[in-house]
Amino acid sequence: MLARDRALSRRLSGVGSAATLPVTARGRGKESETECSRGVDSLVRDMRFQLLSFVVLCSGTSLFGAVEKPFNFYEIPGKLPKQVVPTEYSIRVVPNIENFTFAGSEMVKLNVRSPTRQLVLNALELGIQKASVDGKELQASAIRIDKETELLTLRLPSELRVGDHVLTLRFTGKINQQGRGLFYMRYQEQGSGARKVMLGTQFEATDARRFFPCWDEPAFRARFQLTVVVPENWLAVSNMPVESERKIPGGKELHFAPTPSMSSYLNVFVAGELDVIESRLGPTQIRVITTKGKAELGRYALEASAQILQYYNDYFGVPYPLPKLDQIAIPGGFGGAMENWGGITYFESALLFDPENSSAETKQNIYEVLAHEMAHMWFGDLVTMAWWDNLWLNEGFASWMGSKCTAQFNPQWEVWLARELPRDPTRRTGIAKDAAMEGDARSTTHPIQQRIATEAEANNAFDDITYKKGQSFLRMLESFLGENVFRDGIRRYIDAHKYSNTTTADLWKALSDASKKTVYEIAAGWTEQPGFPVVNVKREAGDKIRLTQERFTVNFRKAPPLLWQIPLTYSVVGGTPATLLMTDKTASLENIPADRQLKLNVNGAGNYRVEYDDASWQLLLKALPNLSVEDRVNLMSDAWALVQAGRAPASLYFGLIEKLPASSDLAEREQIINAFEFIDRLLVEGAAHEEFQQYARSVLRPTFATLGWEPKQDEPPSAETLRASLIKALGDLNDPEIIAGCRERFERYLANPASLPPDLRAPVLAVVGGYADEKTWNKLHELGLKTTSIEDKQNYYNALASAIDPKLIKKTLAIALTDELSTSRAVFLVSRVGRDSGHPDIAWEFAKANMKALLAKVDAAGANRYAPSLFTFFSDRSRVDELKQYAKKDLPQATAAEVTKAVDEIQFRAEFRDRLLSQLPALIQIGVK
Ligand SMILES: [Zn+2]
Repeated sequence: MLARDRALSRRLSGVGSAATLPVTARGRGKESETECSRGVDSLVRDMRFQLLSFVVLCSGTSLFGAVEKPFNFYEIPGKLPKQVVPTEYSIRVVPNIENFTFAGSEMVKLNVRSPTRQLVLNALELGIQKASVDGKELQASAIRIDKETELLTLRLPSELRVGDHVLTLRFTGKINQQGRGLFYMRYQEQGSGARKVMLGTQFEATDARRFFPCWDEPAFRARFQLTVVVPENWLAVSNMPVESERKIPGGKELHFAPTPSMSSYLNVFVAGELDVIESRLGPTQIRVITTKGKAELGRYALEASAQILQYYNDYFGVPYPLPKLDQIAIPGGFGGAMENWGGITYFESALLFDPENSSAETKQNIYEVLAHEMAHMWFGDLVTMAWWDNLWLNEGFASWMGSKCTAQFNPQWEVWLARELPRDPTRRTGIAKDAAMEGDARSTTHPIQQRIATEAEANNAFDDITYKKGQSFLRMLESFLGENVFRDGIRRYIDAHKYSNTTTADLWKALSDASKKTVYEIAAGWTEQPGFPVVNVKREAGDKIRLTQERFTVNFRKAPPLLWQIPLTYSVVGGTPATLLMTDKTASLENIPADRQLKLNVNGAGNYRVEYDDASWQLLLKALPNLSVEDRVNLMSDAWALVQAGRAPASLYFGLIEKLPASSDLAEREQIINAFEFIDRLLVEGAAHEEFQQYARSVLRPTFATLGWEPKQDEPPSAETLRASLIKALGDLNDPEIIAGCRERFERYLANPASLPPDLRAPVLAVVGGYADEKTWNKLHELGLKTTSIEDKQNYYNALASAIDPKLIKKTLAIALTDELSTSRAVFLVSRVGRDSGHPDIAWEFAKANMKALLAKVDAAGANRYAPSLFTFFSDRSRVDELKQYAKKDLPQATAAEVTKAVDEIQFRAEFRDRLLSQLPALIQIGVK
């Protein structure tokens, strides 16, 4: 899953699971527990984790993996008893789109493995009208749904014997608006602008149980066969092709072919007045499905899908197993993308590309999201993590694989270099390593493999650590084992576990078999421990270098010390890179001449920081022009992290950027823009604010002068992206020429939209919106209301969220309560205002007053973080108490972890701002000259 909205909240907030919103995140400028009957399994597991924590604290090493075993169905955690296993479901659903309810029935073939007096499965917000086992109807009193545990218990009149049985159920449910289970979306149709409604589903992590009663835990694989009744002019899509269709009174009944064995959360059903374009790769039919009138906008995705499918068929060694692959664009409900097997759903702007009106970034984003979701067809769908504690097997892997595939076919995008996307902070697919590392350095981080006990915890697991640290670690491991060896290991893994489930131990075994290395020993420190190391470089007498590793932390005193096996890479500048597996606290390098530059972490591919002694740093500063862009960006990123951590004064970073060779390289400039934007927001209304803005403009201006306003023929795509980033950044930094230039272009755009290149629309509109008066605000709003393009709509409403004028901000906030925007977009409008307007206080007051209405629009994963995330734009210590009190009184216990992260973020910002204020004036003076 790509949780776009959640990512937005995180980036906006600066809090991720891990995550602080990075200072580096350029994005900043823009974007109950239920008591369950715990069986022996979960108790054993609890003890294991207590033991584990104890060992981690005492010795600095984890034993998680020593006890994590290969997949064994009976040992997997979860609430559902393992003695009854469903093998086949036949489900029939009749939605009522007048009153947004549905009626359903199902027949489930069961394999009973030990005798039982009851059946226990999942159901939530469903009414059960009738239940029978082997044709015998149960009494109503034997049917019980527990809302708290989300369990449906059917008491049986007599013991059910070992063997095959059949359960039949009749049920009803609700069609909601929140993107949980079956949901409806209202949208304006392309061309006519008519208001229409369509249906979609979103089941991961634990919402299939809202659509039909089922064994809704990933290890309970089964075959699913869906039948639906829809209006006659509708198209309906599910995982498999339609097998038969017949007219019935009031519509048509569609019967889909049964799926292969898979987890319940991978089911999908989408229906509405839809259009299709299609192609074919070998035996696989590929389709892009959109609302009426938009199918041609799916052309790019259709072509990219064929390229990606071919690549994965080869890489994984097992060809895509279903007869068709649908890429489905939906105009709301949820904001990301979901890897339902054979029927992937995407928020529209993550799939549709309009060559006339879409930006280069949109195109890149589409490719990356496609590559991520399609990687899941193998990693996630064909082979599924056994339980949510290994979610990283799905998400870390798909993130890494998607980036690898994107980089392979699109070298011009510098995929591995991209840290964050400037105008789309919601992107999750890029490496964004810095974002994950920032969060991972805090006290609120967690290991990649983490204990997950409840449904609420499963939803919290979709975070930067799972996605980005997972990806970053896999990249480091691949480069250590070698590309071909790694791929061979993956092929073994897929082949051995297809149509089944796995734990991380299964992956290490396959990679160990392929590489003949003990992969677990290297990997354990990275996936079972929180955090990551910093390697200190010290020159000793002669030509010797002493290396020391320790845990790298930010705002986290007394962090338990930990040790890693680090696959280090290094090069003496100009020489060939070398590797060293650093297994102890210290190591040394010989034969490095005292006057030669030494660079560790070649091209920044490793997930660790490096801290050089002064002599080594000075040598590197002299060598900057000879370093690769990747190495320079890595030095900048490390320097900025060391400043944040309080391990170095701010002059380390400012001294470095002033010595960079003149360049219009995208990644370097964006690294600076990210850092400046963070400082700019910290200083709002503070003493040094104007001076800092002046200084920051003086650093960024020369690059903009080189690029100019107008796109040039033959310039690389990175130049277009950088131009857009600089306009937004300089506009935010109050550059009068840029603001005037944006206003002028906006006027021309009103007369002739084609006059503004698609790449410049987002930044120009955002700057115009930021400094808008009421008339301009109204104009932007009118345009936003009118357009049927989700991408344009987003640009207009983002512009409204940037307004600095408090009177206008309030108008923007009020939109969140209307149905002008899809629900997922509406709620995040408030977060955007909190971050972009410079008035987080107004955003919070509004949210507090309207929390109930806002939370009704938030999906499962967003619910716990929504309120706490709005505090993460504050850098005033007094907000800590306010948040704690609010949480105590008004927030459920499930939000506790998010509250702790938000508190940590406020404290970090307050401390960092004080530190910057004491150091900046002197630096800026020198810099501005
Ligand atoms: Zn995913």
